[in-house]
Amino acid sequence: MSVLVFVEVDEKEIKKSSLEAISYGKALEDDVLAICFDKVDHGAVESIGKAGAKKLIQVTNEQLAVPNIMAYSSAIAEAFDQNGCSVLVLAKSSLGDPVSARVAIKVGASVVSNVSGLSEGSGEFVVDRSIYTGKALAKTIVKGDKKVITIKKNTVPVREDGAAPEVVDFQPTLSDGDFVVKVTKTEKTTGEVLLPEADIVVSGGRGMGGPEKWGILEDLAKVLGAATGCSKPVSDMNWRPHHEHVGQTGIKVSPSLYIAVGISGAIQHLAGVNSSKYILVINKDPEAPFFKAADFGIVGDAFDIVPKLTEAIKAKKD
Ligand SMILES: Cc1cc2nc3c(=O)[nH]c(=O)nc-3n(C[C@H](O)[C@H](O)[C@H](O)COP(=O)(O)OP(=O)(O)OC[C@H]3O[C@@H](n4cnc5c(N)ncnc54)[C@H](O)[C@@H]3O)c2cc1C
Repeated sequence: MSVLVFVEVDEKEIKKSSLEAISYGKALEDDVLAICFDKVDHGAVESIGKAGAKKLIQVTNEQLAVPNIMAYSSAIAEAFDQNGCSVLVLAKSSLGDPVSARVAIKVGASVVSNVSGLSEGSGEFVVDRSIYTGKALAKTIVKGDKKVITIKKNTVPVREDGAAPEVVDFQPTLSDGDFVVKVTKTEKTTGEVLLPEADIVVSGGRGMGGPEKWGILEDLAKVLGAATGCSKPVSDMNWRPHHEHVGQTGIKVSPSLYIAVGISGAIQHLAGVNSSKYILVINKDPEAPFFKAADFGIVGDAFDIVPKLTEAIKAKKD
């Protein structure tokens, strides 16, 4: 049995979530193949191998230089069948989600999403799925010979013990039907780190006191290479743009580190952040509910603590 992993690239580097998907594939089977639509350099190829892939299927079709859900799905399904694969693993993402569903239909596979681990000690193929915004795990039996699994970010450690993979060129057979929707160009609206993809998020709440006070959070985000987020009232009052609103009714994030500054920790906010690996809360009220969900907490005034934290991180980096 071979496992195929769809690998995504950001700024020429393999996304960490894709390396996690490869490592998950390696835990399933020894024979792991990765498929990538971006031309990647030597360092990126090496990271794919280290994470556990034996082979990199490099798609070099010019038409696929810009992500295209339908064409990507057709190409992945073709590679899946051609290589006799039985499992496709992808990182859960805005691209991975629709691709996983389409490939599952094309190859006739069962599909499970938001998987956070492999259950052990059972003869059946059982996975742990994260449900209720990360508050519970559903042990899910996956039947059928072919399976498509999307992995939740930050739940699988990345392996670093693999060898350099063999790289093979792949030209998929595509039809006009794969290009009925065509993305001609993708432009980031901001040069900043995007919130849903960020590995670190610095988020501010009403305790920040006003939009003009956000500089200290932006400085902290800059030294950490983090995205900025906020609570709902903050975006409702237009202190920050709506796309930064985190929570039940906003963006759900799952970074390695979520830093919450001047946010009380209402249940609706926690619903968007409780999949974070670590949470650091900075709040002047020791009774703030967020501390109960925190891995690390600092009781104090944000305007005293945050600049010191930024300076300490800068000093450590120099
Ligand atoms: C249906 C529904 C959906 C909702 N969805 C969302 C959602 O998706 N996301 C969301 O965020 N909210 C949501 N809410 C709102 C939520 O219930 C809370 O009202 C909101 O999260 C509170 O925002 P806050 O923590 O920024 O403000 P507050 O509750 O006012 O908390 C401010 C915090 O800042 C601290 N503070 C003040 N000054 C300082 C300082 N100088 N230094 C350090 N700390 C300081 C205070 O101690 C306090 O804990 C929703 C509510 C409803 C009813």
